[in-house]
Amino acid sequence: MPTIRPLPQLVVNQIAAGEVVERPASVVKELLENAVDSGATRIDVAIEEGGAGLVRIVDNGCGIGADELHLAVTNHATSKIASAEELFRVGTLGFRGEALASIASVSRLVIRSRQEGCDGAELVMSGSATADISPAGCPVGTTVEVRDLFFNTPVRRKFLRTAQTEAGHVSEAFARVALAHPSRHFTLSHNGRLLHDLPPCPAPPEEGEDRAWRDRIAALFGEDLSAALIAVESRDERTEGLVRLSGFVADPKETRTHTRMQYLLVNGRAIRDRSLQHALGEAYRGLILTGRKPICFLRLEMPPALVDVNVHPQKLEVRFADSGPLYSQLLGTLRSRFLSSDLRVGASNHI
Ligand code: ADP
Ligand code: MG
Repeated sequence: MPTIRPLPQLVVNQIAAGEVVERPASVVKELLENAVDSGATRIDVAIEEGGAGLVRIVDNGCGIGADELHLAVTNHATSKIASAEELFRVGTLGFRGEALASIASVSRLVIRSRQEGCDGAELVMSGSATADISPAGCPVGTTVEVRDLFFNTPVRRKFLRTAQTEAGHVSEAFARVALAHPSRHFTLSHNGRLLHDLPPCPAPPEEGEDRAWRDRIAALFGEDLSAALIAVESRDERTEGLVRLSGFVADPKETRTHTRMQYLLVNGRAIRDRSLQHALGEAYRGLILTGRKPICFLRLEMPPALVDVNVHPQKLEVRFADSGPLYSQLLGTLRSRFLSSDLRVGASNHI
């Protein structure tokens, strides 16, 4: 008869890593989210060999206490929620408590961290379930280094693409987080070369977040694209509370062959949603050529009761309580905005 046994912790974490850590870009996304959640105002990302050799993220956030470092790499241990009830009104990007444990199980991991007024400490792990922790001098904040991703899971390592392709995915993950937080300073470098230096964008009282957002978009994607943006805004008062849509869509002259330039933030979290992407496509129907995809940078803010963020291990998708009204709100807002602008059909399209 087969015997039922609990799996060793390392195997449990590697199974979770199968869902959470797909490639270097997933490591960058998780570490960036942790840095944002830590309250950091400056976050530096450095990768080597597309991130497969090294991902290093340095933040100046709150740091991790030396006595809690081991918990940071323990599966389902988190400082961000404490009860099932909080799961339905998560205010942080993280809450599952599994990213660091998963990453640690498929890489060589070093975390150095210090809290204000405390001594710093360093944690070292190398593909086993045990961590070495020792005192270390470091600035306030946290540095996480992930080396040799998938070194102990050769099959997964084989699935990695060229350094250039992986670096492209890292850049995208970086842009998604940097866009959502224009008031913070982010940098990204690859093999020692600085790819992005994004200083904080001020939000002047009279122009607010839209101005900061437009500046961040310009810093990431260039002044030409930023100049082609059309501001949109709408509010839908529901029984559960207000649903606010705001941000920018690009003039139909600016399109792409892919949907990667469709940025959608739901309560500050960058997500993908097929239904809303479809609504976007419908709004541009007749304004852009077949096969071309619109560009957008949109924010949806809504009561937490209307959106479940705990449906996807990488938190790339959410589930809306009622997606029909959102579809109509997006489509209606863009249609009426386009009607009020002087947009012409079939304008020249270029990549
Ligand atoms: P989660 O983000 O879902 O809580 P993680 O595995 O990503 O899970 O992180 C575990 C915990 O480690 C976090 O809850 C947080 O307390 C701590 N932590 C991780 N990264 C940082 C960081 N950069 N700064 C401060 N604390 C961090
Ligand atoms: Mg996290």
